[in-house]
Amino acid sequence: MRDSAQWEPAAWQAFEQAHVWHPYASMTEPPLVFPVERAEGVRLELSDGRSLIDGMSSWWCAIHGYNHPRLNAAAREQLDRMAHVMFGGMTHRPAAELAERLVRLSPDGLEKVFLCDSGSVSIEVALKMALQYWQARGETDRHRFLTVRNGYHGDTFGAMSVCDPVNGMHHLFSGVLPQHLFAPAPRCARDEDWDGSDIAELRRMLEENRDSIAAVILEPIVQGAGGMRFYCPEYLRQLRALCDEQGVLLIFDEIATGFGRTGTLFAAEQAGVTPDIMCVGKALTGGYMTLAAALTTADVAATVSGSGQGAFMHGPTFMANPLACAVATASIDLLLESDWAASVSAIGRQMEAELAEARSLPNVADVRVKGAIGVIELSEAPDPRWQQRRIVEEGVWIRPFGKLFYIMPPFIISREDLSRLTGAMVRITREAAGA
Ligand SMILES: *Cc1c(COP(=O)(O)O)cnc(C)c1O
Repeated sequence: MRDSAQWEPAAWQAFEQAHVWHPYASMTEPPLVFPVERAEGVRLELSDGRSLIDGMSSWWCAIHGYNHPRLNAAAREQLDRMAHVMFGGMTHRPAAELAERLVRLSPDGLEKVFLCDSGSVSIEVALKMALQYWQARGETDRHRFLTVRNGYHGDTFGAMSVCDPVNGMHHLFSGVLPQHLFAPAPRCARDEDWDGSDIAELRRMLEENRDSIAAVILEPIVQGAGGMRFYCPEYLRQLRALCDEQGVLLIFDEIATGFGRTGTLFAAEQAGVTPDIMCVGKALTGGYMTLAAALTTADVAATVSGSGQGAFMHGPTFMANPLACAVATASIDLLLESDWAASVSAIGRQMEAELAEARSLPNVADVRVKGAIGVIELSEAPDPRWQQRRIVEEGVWIRPFGKLFYIMPPFIISREDLSRLTGAMVRITREAAGA
């Protein structure tokens, strides 16, 4: 056994590189990674003493910044009672408190809460709920899903099968993944420009295949990891009407958009529609630990519960982990006590103003902002190692994805810190143009 106190940084880092996977990475050519020692507010402190301004919120999660005293206290308090207890045959206050908030704050009609481990698992839960719903109703041929291109719903098999078939991992797993239906991605950015053509192909596919479709699933307003694309609320209103008309369920994946990121608490609010099932995750615990939920209506829950099994057939070991629930409740309360809507809109306005400069660069295809999300879309992906090194040299933390150079900072970021992020984005984009 190694004595961890004596394990020099260079030694543990070498071991880590040799033995520990990173997301979407090679094990033989280890990715460039930066050891982090601690984090506070919007600052990430690296082991070499450098401090970076966080532009990623650890992938949409850390909306209050890091090391928040309120969230720390909630975790400590719960830790002293119990970190975990099984949810089969037992229950606890943290689950009730969190569910009370989710039911109260989510779009009207979503009343039943399934608490699970991660975003991807909540998508599996949503897909299974839709399948069990139709089984209970005797329509057992409905086992396909309809979605739109450029979507991202997670990395597990069910979730992967509804991710964008080109961006996603379909070609790798094509023999194993169920074949679902993919309509063109929504394009219309503003309700004023709506003319119906955007949803025409989806309408045709839905009408043609309605007897085999269990549900439509998509990310409302913002398509995240599949392209950082924004589209108008009218699309969702039309889609809701279409699903009602054709009698299929509608699932919203709010895992990235939930908890204020797009300017409303949930993106669905911008369209004023309620899906039949809604998934949340990511910012749910303010970035402290993994937790997600699938919410549904009383009608779906009752139908599923009336299926052959008389039960919904899912139940992870760490379901409704009390520690995660307690932190999630504290994070939601903290959000609601703050003037988060004003912060998100101020962040948005500042990004609009400061990223505008990049529009005229020859390598920039588009610059767009929605809520507290700012995107520079390049016409060509820069060398990722070069770009990542330059980002860290600038004293900021951004994680570009191919052609997409984007930020979604914690809501508590100051004007000065946000300017450091946008400034670095524009400078590095300009350098990439010159290279
Ligand atoms: C991140 C994400 C997921 C998957 O969540 P995990 O917690 O990574 O499993 C699903 N859908 C969307 C929209 C996401 O952004």
